[in-house]
Amino acid sequence: MDQAVTFQDKLYIGGEWRRGGGAEIASNFPADGSVNTKLAGASLEDTDLAIARAQEAVNDPKWRKLLPHERATFLYKISEGIARNADRISHVQSRDTGKTLTETRALALSAAGTFRYMAAALETAEDALTPARGNYLTMSVYEPLGVTAGITPWNSPIASDAQKVAPALAAGNAILLKPSSWSPLVCLELARIIDEAGLPKGLFSTLPGAGAIVGERLVTHPAIRKVSFTGGTETGRDIARKAADKLMPVSLELGGKSPTIVFADADLDLAVAGVMFGVFSSTGQSCIAGSRLFVERSIYDAFVAKLVAATERLRVGHPFEATTQVAPLIRPKHRDEVEGHVKRAREDGGKVLTGGERPTGTGYADGTYYRPTIIAGLGNDSRLCREEVFGPVLAVLPFDNEDDLVAQSNDNSYGLACGIYTRDFPKAWRIARAIDTGTVWINTYKQFSISTPFGGTKDSGLGREKGREGIRAWMAQKSLYCDL
Ligand code: NAD
Repeated sequence: MDQAVTFQDKLYIGGEWRRGGGAEIASNFPADGSVNTKLAGASLEDTDLAIARAQEAVNDPKWRKLLPHERATFLYKISEGIARNADRISHVQSRDTGKTLTETRALALSAAGTFRYMAAALETAEDALTPARGNYLTMSVYEPLGVTAGITPWNSPIASDAQKVAPALAAGNAILLKPSSWSPLVCLELARIIDEAGLPKGLFSTLPGAGAIVGERLVTHPAIRKVSFTGGTETGRDIARKAADKLMPVSLELGGKSPTIVFADADLDLAVAGVMFGVFSSTGQSCIAGSRLFVERSIYDAFVAKLVAATERLRVGHPFEATTQVAPLIRPKHRDEVEGHVKRAREDGGKVLTGGERPTGTGYADGTYYRPTIIAGLGNDSRLCREEVFGPVLAVLPFDNEDDLVAQSNDNSYGLACGIYTRDFPKAWRIARAIDTGTVWINTYKQFSISTPFGGTKDSGLGREKGREGIRAWMAQKSLYCDL
C-alpha cells in the first residue's frame, strides 16, 4: 500500500538546491499524524535571492530572444516529466495532504495537461497585426511582465501550482512559487522536474515558507510585477490592498459557498451522486465544494432521505485504500475548525441528519477523519450558509419557485460555482444565467477543462485562469506605430 519515498528537504532557489534559512516546516501524513519530513522553510534572504536570480534570468538576452515555440519546448518537457513521475508525485501529495491516491494521480495528470496545453497554445498564438488609417503600420505585441509570483494553498497543490507556473513561463516570465507550509513537498517535486527539463536557472524558484514573511515579501517587493494568488478571501483582500499600492496586477482565486440546486424533474439518482461528489470529494476541502443544497420543496423530504442514506454508505478511510471515498482532513487544527462550524450550526438550531462526528473504530484513532455531515433546518442567512467550512459539511434548504431559488442562491457574499440538476434545459439555462457565479455545471459537478477559463465573482475572486487568455493574463500589451 505504502511505498518508500525519500522526500526532498531542500528548496529550489535560483536554479540551485539549498537549505532554507527560515523556520522549520513539518509535513505530516493526515492518516496517522506521522511526520513525512521536516524542512527549513524559506527566509526573507532566500526570497530576495530568488527575486534577484529571477531578475537576471528574465532579462538574460538568450531567454528574451527565444521565440514562443522555443519557450514551448521547456513546457512540453515539464509536462512529460510530470506525466512520467505521476505515481511518485501522487504518492508524495497523498502523504502531504491525506488525499486519496486516485485524486492525487488525477491532479498530477491534470498538471501535466496544463503545461502541455500552455505549450500548444503558445505555439499557435497569433499577435494582432492591424493596418492603421494612413501610411502607418500598427502592431500590438504582448511582452512578458518580468518577475512574477504564484502563491498557492494546501488543498490541491500540484494543480494550483501548474495553473500559475505553466502560463507564467509560457508568457516568458520568471516565476517564484510560494506554496502553503501545510503541503510543502509537491512543489519540490515540480522543481526537480523543471530543473531536469533544462529551464534556464533562476526563472523558477520555490519558496515554501510563512505567508506573512515570504508571501508578503513577494507581494510588496518592487521587482515583482504580478501575483497570482489562490487561497482564502481575507488573505486575498490583504494581497489586493498591497498590490494596489504598487499598481500591480493580481489574480485572486478565493473561497466559495457554492449552491447546488435539485429540481423535482431531475434524474434523482444522478443528482444524489452529483451532490455527494460536489461536497464530499476531497473531504470538502475544495473551493468549489457545493456546500449549500437547495431542493425543490415538492421532493425535499424524499430527496434528502435518499441523500442521507447514500451519504451513510460513503467509505471514510485511509488515503491509500482503493475503496476510500472520504479521506482524512489535512490537519488536527483544521478538523477543530470544521467541528467548530458544526457546533455553531447546532447552536443556531440546525439538525444534524448524518455525521457531525469523528468516525470511531480501528484505523481512525490517529488520523484526522471526520464523517460526511448533512445539516437541515437552518436559513440561508445562518452562519453555516454564510461561512466557508472547507470540510465535508452540507447545509440543505428547500425552495418554492425559481425566483425564491435565485434570490437565496445569490444572497451570499461568494460567487464561485453552482450545480443545477434538472431535465428541463431551458430552465437550467435560465437559472444558470441568473446565478452570480464564475462556473455553472448542469447535471454534473467539478468537471474541468484546461481550455475553459476558471475564476470567481464577488468575494470568490478576480480574474480568470486557464484557456488561451490564461497566458495573456501574464503579459503586458504594447502598441507599436510605424510611419511607412
Ligand atoms: P490561505 O489564504 O490561508 O493561504 C494561501 C496561501 O497564502 C498560503 O501559501 C499562505 O502561506 C499564503 N499567505 C498567507 N498569508 C499571506 C500574506 N499575508 N501574504 C501573502 N501570502 C500569504 O488559504 P489556505 O488555508 O491555504 O487555503 C484554503 C483557502 O483557499 C480556502 O478559502 C479555499 O476556498 C481557497 N481556495 C480557492 C481556490 C480557487 O480556485 N478559488 C482553489 C483552492 C483553494
